[in-house]
This record gives sequence, structure tokens and C-alpha cells, in this order.
Amino acid sequence: MRLSRYFLPVLKEDPKEAQIVSHRLMLRAGMIKQQAAGIYSWLPLGLKLLRRIEQIVHEEQQRAGHIPMLMPTLQPADLWRESGRYDDYGEEMLRVQDRHKRDLLYGPTNEEMITDIFRAHVGSYKDLPLTLYHIQWKFRDEIRPRFGVMRGREFLMKDGYNFDLTKEAALHAYNRHLVSYLRSYERMGLQAIPMRADGGPIGGDYTHEFLVLAETGESEVFYDSQITDLTFGDREIDYDDVAQCQAVLEEFTSRYARTDETHDEAVYAEVPEDRRRTARGIEVGQIFYFGTKYSEPMGATVRDSSGAQVPVHMGSHGIGVSRLLGAIIEANHDDKGIIWPEGVTPFHVGIVNLKQGDASTDNACEAIYALLRTRGLDPLYDDRDERAGTKFASMDLIGLPWRITVGPRGLANNQVELTNRRSGESIAMTPEEAVVRLEQIYAPIRAQALPAA
Ligand code: ATP
Ligand code: MG
Repeated sequence: MRLSRYFLPVLKEDPKEAQIVSHRLMLRAGMIKQQAAGIYSWLPLGLKLLRRIEQIVHEEQQRAGHIPMLMPTLQPADLWRESGRYDDYGEEMLRVQDRHKRDLLYGPTNEEMITDIFRAHVGSYKDLPLTLYHIQWKFRDEIRPRFGVMRGREFLMKDGYNFDLTKEAALHAYNRHLVSYLRSYERMGLQAIPMRADGGPIGGDYTHEFLVLAETGESEVFYDSQITDLTFGDREIDYDDVAQCQAVLEEFTSRYARTDETHDEAVYAEVPEDRRRTARGIEVGQIFYFGTKYSEPMGATVRDSSGAQVPVHMGSHGIGVSRLLGAIIEANHDDKGIIWPEGVTPFHVGIVNLKQGDASTDNACEAIYALLRTRGLDPLYDDRDERAGTKFASMDLIGLPWRITVGPRGLANNQVELTNRRSGESIAMTPEEAVVRLEQIYAPIRAQALPAA
């Protein structure tokens, strides 16, 4: 993309309404625009990031064997009357009527609808196990929408639902989700710690929330510091292997890590004192096993091997896709702006032309731009007629992890500079070497790609 033709409305001043750094930087970098409290337009740069995060979520869900689909945002109220949640959900649910005075609601989640789909189409235990998921907009009429996309009213969520014949099989699905979530967050450059959570209005005995530690987090958390040493890394995992998935769950959940909702001073006191930590965290996901809570009242049953009709065991598993943008920025920024991890960056590299209008500098930039694109990389070329300082400030603000700087002085020796956004280190090299270096950097990330949903 050429910046002169892009739509990147960066702000020079700090917007007054933003209380936390991620909200401020998303507004300043021209990623989002608020349209009403907790409701945002996603401007081109914001959309590119949202799509990138969605893609990682899709890839990791499909790697785990989960099947993508799409359910609507508007749902009939009658489905929610069957489960009893139409009245229970309260004022967070946005309720509307169509022209025939039929009650609809803008979905805050989809347990009822997925259960309805299941009971219409699945009848035998032979069709199990089954895990379906979608990435769709949700609406919750939060009392205090704030912190930009972190607590929106309209927000994008991945929600997945497993259907299994037995509790044991459903707990394997739970473990599969835990593993796939660990992988997803790590690919986004985040450490998200599974913490024992409270069932809340959805209910359930087995549930973990995934928290990113950050001062601006809304949850108070208590943990054993050893848990922050754990990483999933690039180990191979067979998602059908029950023992392997269970072992990962045990590894990542055996140390003390709880939110204030489930915190237990007596258990916490057993953690050696020098390892006890309290901090704040951002909830970026949650997994639940809730048994037959929906399948029983809604009649989602299958025939088991003896021919008896039994309600299926279910769980639901959510990732806060739009909230993740805020969480990633909270964890990756400096006083100049955002620093995107390579796994999510909206463009692989920025090209800064130090002398726009100088024929040989322009030509060199065009050649690098073209070469990067033929190698399958996605560059953002700052070809505006602006001072170098302005171009550097924009690149630093929007946070691309790499920058190629091209100017007449270096070109005299066939050199450009490749600069790392996080460390600030620059290395002089030929344009071709810079492109090869970037290919190497992004090769492991690009190797993770799976077909689109
Ligand atoms: P919270 O406790 O933050 O209100 P929740 O526990 O009600 O969230 P879940 O039902 O677990 O939310 O939804 C799954 C994920 O969706 C959450 O882990 C979170 O990352 C995201 N999410 C929930 N509410 C919002 C919101 N208002 N804005 C943005 N993301 C949200
Ligand atoms: Mg939750």
C-alpha cells in the first residue's frame, strides 16, 4: 500500500476521551472512530489488525479440529425463552421488535442458537464429537463501556461450542480449547495466563479465564510467579491425543492463578511467600464446560450405542477478538507509539523515502516496494511529500515492527537501513539483502497459515 493513497487519519494531539494508552494509540493511529458509546467504526488500519487476529484464531481453531460457520447477529427471543435466559439476562441484552411485533435480540452470545442447530441436524452418537465455532459481532449493553474496544457494547468475539456424548469426551474438548488458546495468544505475542474462574450467568463447574497481565486490566488477579515462566512454544501437539491435551492443562493450571472472584486466601497462603503476586489482568478469553445445561431444556439429545436418547454434554469457549487489539497494545508500546508483534502486524514493513521527488531515491523505493510484493510481503510505502521527521513519527506511531529507510546518501553505496521498531537498532545493507532478511523473519509466521474459513 502507498501511504499517499491510503486512508490513515493519524491524530497529532492526544484525544481527551481516552483514559488508557491502548485507546489513545488506537485513536491516534487512525484505527477506530467512536460512533456511539462503546460502538466503533473500524478504519482501514484497525480493520487490517482485526482481520489478522481473526485469521490467527481461525487457524488455531481449525488446527484443533473445530469447524467454522456463521450465525446471525439477530436472534429470535423464543429460543432464549426455552433456556430461561430471556428473562435472566437483564439489561445487558439489547431487545428489538420487528414490524410484526416479534421479539428479537442482538445476540450477546450463542448457546441457544447453536443448540437449536444441533438438535435440528444431529441425532446419533456416531456424529460426535463435534465442535462448531464462529467469529461474529456481539452486543452487550454494558453499563460502563470504556477503554475503547476493551469494553465495547458492540464487539467481535470468537465463540465455539463442543458437543460430546460423555462428560469425559467434553472435558477433552475443554482441554483442546485450552491448548488452542495458548497457541493463539502466543502467536499474537501475548502471554495469557489461564486462571480459575467463576461460572457467572452461563454457569458451569469447569471454567478458566485467560488473562493478560497489565496495569490497566479490570480484573484483580493472584498468582504463583512460576506460572509466568511457562510458554507453549512450538511444541507439536496431537489434538486427538487425550493424555497429551490433559498434560498441557495440568502443566498450565496446577499453579495458583485466580481472579478475585475465585481467590482463596487459605490456598494462596500455601504458595511460598516470595512467589505470591497480585496484579491486574485483561480477560481475553474464557472456556467453560457446562454439561447438559442447555441440551436438557432444549431437547438436544442423541441416540447412544444402546439406542437410548441422551442429552449431549456441551461447553462454550470465547475469545475477545476486538478486545485483543487493546490488550496487545497495552503489552506492546513505548512513548512513541505502538509496537506490533510480527505475528499480528498490519503491514510487514514500512518504507520511508527520505527525499521524495528525487528520481533515484523514488526509483529505489519503487523497486524495493515491488520486490517485497513479489516475495509475498505486504509493505506500507510512505511516499508522501513530507519531512523525514514526520514520516518517522507516523511509522513509529502505527508500530510496524520493521522499517526500511531509503535516502540518497546510502544509495550512493547501494545501501538502505533496516530498523527494528522495538530495539531501535538499524543495520545498513543492500535493498536485496533487506528483502531477504524480511523474508527470513516472516517465514515461520507465514508457515503457520491454513486455508481461510
Ligand atoms: P467481562 O468479564 O470482561 O465482562 P465476560 O466474562 O462477560 O467478560 P465472556 O462471556 O466470557 O465475557 O466472553 C468471552 C470474551 O469476550 C471475554 O473473555 C472478553 O475477552 C470478550 N468480551 C466480553 N465482553 C466484552 C466487551 N464488552 N467488549 C469487548 N470484549 C468483550
Ligand atoms: Mg468471561
